[in-house]
Amino acid sequence: MDNDAAYKRLEAWREDAGSVAVLTDIDGVLAPIVPTPNMSEVSEELRGILRELGEKYLLVAGISGRKTEDARDLIGLDEVVYFGNHGFEILRDGEVEVVPEALPFYERVQELESRAKEELEPQGAFIEEKGITASIHYRNAPPEVGERSVEFVKAEGDRLGLRITVGRGVVEARPPIRADKGTAVRTLVEEYRPRKAMFIGDDTTDLDAFRELEKLREEGLLDEILRIGVESDEGPPEIVTEADLVIDGAENVPDVFRRLL
Ligand SMILES: [Mg+2]
Repeated sequence: MDNDAAYKRLEAWREDAGSVAVLTDIDGVLAPIVPTPNMSEVSEELRGILRELGEKYLLVAGISGRKTEDARDLIGLDEVVYFGNHGFEILRDGEVEVVPEALPFYERVQELESRAKEELEPQGAFIEEKGITASIHYRNAPPEVGERSVEFVKAEGDRLGLRITVGRGVVEARPPIRADKGTAVRTLVEEYRPRKAMFIGDDTTDLDAFRELEKLREEGLLDEILRIGVESDEGPPEIVTEADLVIDGAENVPDVFRRLL
């Protein structure tokens, strides 16, 4: 599909808003990437458009790796459903729900978090309380604290049966089930039952959402899909090659949404 055909499809969906799900990443799509995540903002203009879409369309959802409440605070609209914390949590009508498959692990994540607080916080690590996942940050601590943090969290994760991942300056613990933007998209489609769905993303984790949309179409749960890639210098090449529609930078996102109104 070329960009013209994709725009035509988008505009045709206007007539069928009651069966369309508008799904989008947040950072780098709705909010431009800025040096520190707590400085991000969604413009008033875009917020107005999203509010209108939320009133008109079957579903508008923001899907983010951020803590779910942070995603909500960033967009700040009750008309939008929020899926956060790497696909582990959904927030609607003011309530955060953990996805059912992850719930049995909640107490174990909490146990790891409080053990990390006792052992690692006094040494200079920072424990971010995220609920169903735990993040232990050591970027601002001496290197040996980083090593000790990774070792400690890995050992505790083994003991408790949690999945451990090591990132840049952070070690994270999460339930050992698949949860990502793809599972978030599937959960929303199975629950809200749209016939058409789009997703806009700019980064590697958004490719899970693109690929899940394609699967849902193949399975017959969706009739039409649109995968919209926001091209940027830092994004992976697949965000362009796997997209039905490519837009140049987050500044052109409002134009895409406006075509739905
Ligand atoms: Mg993003």
